[in-house]
Formats: sequence, structure tokens, C-alpha cells
Amino acid sequence: MKEHTKLAHAGRHPSDHNGAVNVPVYRASTILFPTMEEFANRSDPSVKIRYALRGTPTSFALEEALTALEGGHNTVLAPSGLQAITMALMAFVKSGDHVLVTDSTYAPTRNFCNQVLANLGVETEYYDPLIGAGIKDLLRDNTTVVWTESPGSHTFEVQDIPAISKAAHEVGAVVMIDNTWSGGYYLKPLSLGADISVHAITKYVGGHSDLMMGAMICNEKTYDRLKTVAGLFGNFASPDDVTLALRGFRTIGVRLPRHFESAMTVAKWLQNRPEVTRVLHPALPDDPGHELWKRDFTGASGLFGFVINTEDRKKISAMMDGWKLYGMGSSWGGYESLLIPAWPADNRTVTDWQTDGQLLRIHVGLEDPEDLIADLEAGFDRLNAA
Ligand SMILES: *Cc1c(COP(=O)(O)O)cnc(C)c1O
Repeated sequence: MKEHTKLAHAGRHPSDHNGAVNVPVYRASTILFPTMEEFANRSDPSVKIRYALRGTPTSFALEEALTALEGGHNTVLAPSGLQAITMALMAFVKSGDHVLVTDSTYAPTRNFCNQVLANLGVETEYYDPLIGAGIKDLLRDNTTVVWTESPGSHTFEVQDIPAISKAAHEVGAVVMIDNTWSGGYYLKPLSLGADISVHAITKYVGGHSDLMMGAMICNEKTYDRLKTVAGLFGNFASPDDVTLALRGFRTIGVRLPRHFESAMTVAKWLQNRPEVTRVLHPALPDDPGHELWKRDFTGASGLFGFVINTEDRKKISAMMDGWKLYGMGSSWGGYESLLIPAWPADNRTVTDWQTDGQLLRIHVGLEDPEDLIADLEAGFDRLNAA
């Protein structure tokens, strides 16, 4: 099945639901069994539905859909993207282990490693996101997880997932990637060697800024353990939110190309602005990550960064406080555009972030790019006048 057909059909079983196109919302807790024997045997693997915490046809539908999208073995859902990250890590570490985490990672991932894993006796070592095959020098006998994120949060470095995976597998480490940026549509990390593709479904799969959810798409090697540990933690995703996520899933294939195209238009316009010193977007030919991006990704999403030639708070506030279209807030991946300042140097420990001005992170939504550019132009006028 080709990609758009999968997006339209994966996870749907109309004949199981009176012909309904979409899987109904199973809002449930107790699942009743007709006989004592069936109740007593409810933990048998052949019994798929035993308690709503363990899944219902609603959650199975989204798991199936995401698994199909990324070519995985199976998927575990989580109540948020961050919970998916922490769940995946918890499933593959024990006291005395060593994990390698990219220095460009989403800051809450770092906070979890430093504040929770550290207390459990798990050592986290950060590495240069551009390390590639060189990661072999950092791998130890007790390295159980290599955490990647590509492109990196705020700074957009593209990682060499095949090279990192190959080296990590030589010591038996599990390779995990935060694949939120690509929406699972533009990058298929399991086919590049990663073992678990972790997502904030909150972002592009949700797509409408109205839900929180995470997912861990696993290969065969990792699924059983992750599913078991997530179950031990009581991990769960709400059926109402799963339903919204399924709705978003059906249209990724039309939304993401629009984000991609509009973001490229805006990025190229920004490259020609005198106030902009750098645009961080791997789909631009002069981006340092462009070759790897071209090799591994089939497109780019609407999220990228740019650096402006001032760090003057007053000037930047004048620019940021007057947007007509851009919103300022955490998260991204909805239909609407966002623009925020970012300070990635605070979240680096082994690599430098050169501050040649203020970094701004933009999410290009589904609006007309001409309007988005006009809003930016007015913003630069305010910056220059302040
Ligand atoms: C937002 C985000 C997350 C966390 O997702 P939540 O659903 O907000 O918990 C994880 N990784 C990346 C790269 C993100 O941008």
C-alpha cells in the first residue's frame, strides 16, 4: 500500500463497527466477561480487550495506523509526547547503565535524564549531534540507550541515524529517536536502523492544537518490553484524544506538504532580509544538514529557526508584541503559525551554540504565506524603529 492510501485506510475496521467509517470512541473502564472461566483467563494473550487501561478498539486503531505509517512492528500510546519519551527511556535502563543523549535534544528530555535517571543510578552522557559514526568512541559495555533527535530542537542539526544505529547495535544498545518534527510522514527512522520512533502526537498528527498525546512506534525487538513496562506504569491515552489524533492522522498527507511549501517560501524570504544572519532549515541547500536531510528525509515540516542580528530585548519585544498572525506559546504542529524566541545555549553542555544574535523559532502554519511574510515584514519595521 502506498503512503496516502495507508493514511486513509490504516487502522479502520468498518465491518467490526456496524459499518461506521471511523472507529467509535470506546469510553470505558470495566470490560465485562460473560463467564467466570472467561474472566479468570482474561490475561491470556489471546484476549485483546480485558480492561480499558490495556487498550480498546479506539486505541488499537491509532496504534495500528501509526505502525503502518512508519513501518513498525507495533505502537504504544502515551498521554503526552514527554511521557512517551520518559516511558521509552524507563523501559530500557536499570541502575548502573549508561545512556547517550544528543546535546541538541528537547530540553525536557535532558531534565528527565538529569533529575530522574541520575537519581536511579543511570548515567547520562551528552554527545555532539553531528557525531555520526564517531559515537563508537563513547559507547560502553553498559550503554543501553542511544537517544537521538533529528533535526534537533531549536537548532535543527540533522543526525546520521544509520551510522549511529550501526555503532550502537554493536554494543547492544537500543536506538531511540524523537521523530516529532517529521510527523512520521517525512522520516521513517525504523528503516534507517532506529529501534523506537518516539512522537509528540500533540504536534503534527494532532495537527489542530487541541490535544496532548505521545506515541512510541517500535520494531519487533523492542515492542514486548516497552509494552510490558508501560503497562506496569499504568500508561494510558484517553479515547477522546485518541479519536482526535486519528482524525488528524487522516490528513497528514495533505497538511504536511502545505506546511513544507509555505515554510520554504518564508525561509527563503527570511534569507534575503538584512536583519537575518542565519536561517536554520535543513531543506535549504546551504544548510549544514542539507545532504543528510536529502538522503534520509522525503520532506520538511513547517518548523525552523532563524537568527536576527540583535539581542536587544527592547527591539525584539517591539517586533514580537505586535504580530497580527503569529502566536507566542509552547508547542507547534497545529494549523496556525507561531513565533517565539529561543535560548538554546542554556540547554547545551558538550557543544557550543554560537550566539550571533537572537534565535527565533517559527512554525509556519496553513495560512497564505504572503500574509505570513507581510506580518514578518511589519515586525522587522517595528524592530528597526525601536
Ligand atoms: C513538544 C515536543 C515534545 C513533547 O510533547 P508534549 O506532547 O508537549 O509532551 C517532545 N519532543 C519534541 C521534539 C517536541 O517538540
